[in-house]
Amino acid sequence: MFTFRRLTLFFFIILLCLNLWNVIPGKSAVSFVNINAVLLYSLLFSCYFGCSFAMAFLPCSNFHHPVLCRGTTDEKSVSITFDDGPDPVKTPLVLEILRKHQVYAAFFVIGKKIAGNEWIVKRLIDDGHVIGNHSFSHSKWFDFFPAHKIRAELLETDHLLKNITGKSPLFFRPPYGVVNPMVSNALKHMPWKAVCWNIRSFDTLNNNPEKIKTKIIRKLKPGSIILLHDDTLFTGNHLDELLVAIRQAGYTVVPLDKLLNIPAHAQE
Ligand SMILES: [Zn+2]
Repeated sequence: MFTFRRLTLFFFIILLCLNLWNVIPGKSAVSFVNINAVLLYSLLFSCYFGCSFAMAFLPCSNFHHPVLCRGTTDEKSVSITFDDGPDPVKTPLVLEILRKHQVYAAFFVIGKKIAGNEWIVKRLIDDGHVIGNHSFSHSKWFDFFPAHKIRAELLETDHLLKNITGKSPLFFRPPYGVVNPMVSNALKHMPWKAVCWNIRSFDTLNNNPEKIKTKIIRKLKPGSIILLHDDTLFTGNHLDELLVAIRQAGYTVVPLDKLLNIPAHAQE
């Protein structure tokens, strides 16, 4: 598998070879004082950092860190996940629709949105849903934070969720789906498993619910994990229609922990 560790190893082997080349008698030197060598080193460093940067946006490649993006099943089972809540107006709407269909979803909660919405968080658990950690700040700079700051955010959100529900989430959804070396280091030796998706609804960008629904249904496969947001317009009737369409396509929505076959919350 193509991973950051292997890329780094390959990068240093190339660097070592270039430097060894310099000590071979009779060979033209590849050093920083040579203009061609400067271009060569620039290209090498650009490839290394460019590749590392680009792969952070492809979390399911497992390049920087192992990330769960689908369940391994041949059955027509899928999971629905909601990010960016709790929202005092829209999350309860989502919960009503899920209850009507007797569907259990996963909610990746932002820590700073919990204050004042504790009752919603409690209801998520009382209704049988999975709660996951989606950072505390969901800052647009989150992916530039050092590992210790990312870890502190996750611990803070865990603490808030545990105080309300008595449960500590074991699933972490990286904000914006970016998994870079800092996120990977933050997760090291910690209990959280990174969970992303393989069906992105783009419900935060697309204002056409029919198109969102059609796109999701077209992409359904056994083990799919669907990304939605419980703070968008795609709630209420639109979610209701999506759940009907998923069922009509022959699929069953199952809880995320059941789809992945790993526990969602730490033992109390
Ligand atoms: Zn988010």
